[in-house]
Parts: sequence; structure tokens; C-alpha cells
Amino acid sequence: MSDLVVADLVAGYGDARVLYGVGFTVREGEVCAILGPNGAGKTTLLRALSGVVRARGTITLGGTTLAGRSPDTIARHGVAHVPEGRGTFMPLTVEENLRLGAYVRRRGAEVEQDLARIYTYFPVLKTRLKQAAGSLSGGEQQMLALGRALMLRPRLLLLDEPSLGLAPLVTRELFRIVQAINAEERTTVVVVEQNAHLALGIAQQAHVLETGRIVLSGTAAEIRADEQVAQSYLGYR
Ligand code: ATP
Repeated sequence: MSDLVVADLVAGYGDARVLYGVGFTVREGEVCAILGPNGAGKTTLLRALSGVVRARGTITLGGTTLAGRSPDTIARHGVAHVPEGRGTFMPLTVEENLRLGAYVRRRGAEVEQDLARIYTYFPVLKTRLKQAAGSLSGGEQQMLALGRALMLRPRLLLLDEPSLGLAPLVTRELFRIVQAINAEERTTVVVVEQNAHLALGIAQQAHVLETGRIVLSGTAAEIRADEQVAQSYLGYR
């Protein structure tokens, strides 16, 4: 099984510690939501998982140790990170951005197959192939970022605030596609999201992070039913 196991994870920036011993497990093929207030360390957690931020502690995927490895090595182990702000290359075309996502892969035929598969999830990208990424709408750019991540054929997809700056309708469509990818490809997903309703709608498990520590964990239904979470993050009760 390619479970993601995180234990005793400590990470920060220089002397400033942000994560204080974070631990959780995501079973292969499941969606895990990370909730919590601004500044809790959610983005830092994803950065630690993809190796962008140095971390101490345990991170394993399917038994392979990822903690302490370079972002490139971690990507080669099948971890794709869609950062906040999307990280698309604006002057490059849609197609160039997508092909860049396959940089760790060699087989040309597979790349062509994957492009075709990505157009089935995101038909709009196929109609924009020769357009500069910078000319796309926010929702299309998020789709491109997700499409580019899929070109890695990831075992684990890390999504940071996919709904940021998008209209509700576009956000719902995006989450529908993430759910389809998870169901069809069996890709494990860790999603950081301010919109707790949406994230809990596609997740099996969820964790609430506060000042660098997990303060609450449970199934999506348990977290949704929790009084305090409902008040703090779901905007009702
Ligand atoms: P948000 O929802 O606001 O993005 P978050 O839960 O994702 O919040 P992080 O972005 O991980 O939180 O930030 C956690 C802490 O780390 C904050 O205090 C932030 O100021 C600090 N921080 C984030 N990035 C850096 C950086 N590059 N250098 C130094 N400190 C940073």
C-alpha cells in the first residue's frame, strides 16, 4: 500500500519554527483535508511534504522515506505539489506548461497518452493549447496547474488552496474534477482549503491545524459535526 505516513514533523523557516511535531496517516487512494486558521502552518506542511521546506521527522510514501530528500527526488517518487498561487509559467503556452509537468518522465508515447487523458478532465485546456498561460482565467489557470501536476502520474497530489480567488461555481467544478481524478486514478490527495465545506465534501479524513499542531482529527463527518469546527471554519452554529 502507498500510504502516506507523517510523524513528529518539525519544520520552519530559519530559526522560526512553524510545525511542532505533526503526525497523521493518509491511506492510499483517500482524500485528506487539512483545515485551520491563517498562519497555522498548512502551506508549510505541504511544502515540507514536497521537500520545498526542510523538515525533520518522518515522511514516508508506500514505505519509502521522503523526509530530507530534494523536491526533485520527491517528485520522482510520485508526489505532485500544486502550490498556492498555482505556479504556472505565465509566458509559456498551455501545452508547454503541461509538457513541463512530465519533465521527470522519458517515454514520449506515455506523455501523449497522458495529455489526451488530461484533456478529458479539462476539455477547456484543449481549446487553449497555443495560448499563453497568463491569458487564462483564474479557474482555467488552476485547471492548468492541476493538469500539469497530473502529467507526473502522481501517487500523491498536494493541493494548496485550490479555491483561492475563484468564483463559487468554478470552485465547485474544480472540486468535482479533483474527486473524479481521485476516484479514477486512485491518486491520494492532501488538500489544504479555507473552504472547509468543499474540502470536507470530498475528503474521507480531516485534520485541523492550529499554530503548527494538529488539534483535531477525524473522519470528514466527525469534523463537520464538531461544534467548534462548525463555529470556527464552517460559518454556522
Ligand atoms: P495561510 O492560510 O494564511 O496561507 P497557513 O496555515 O498556510 O496560512 P503558512 O503559510 O504555512 O500558514 O505560515 C505559517 C507561518 O509561517 C506564518 O507565521 C508565516 O508568517 C510563516 N511563514 C510562511 N512562509 C514563510 C517564509 N517563506 N519565511 C518565513 N516565514 C514564513
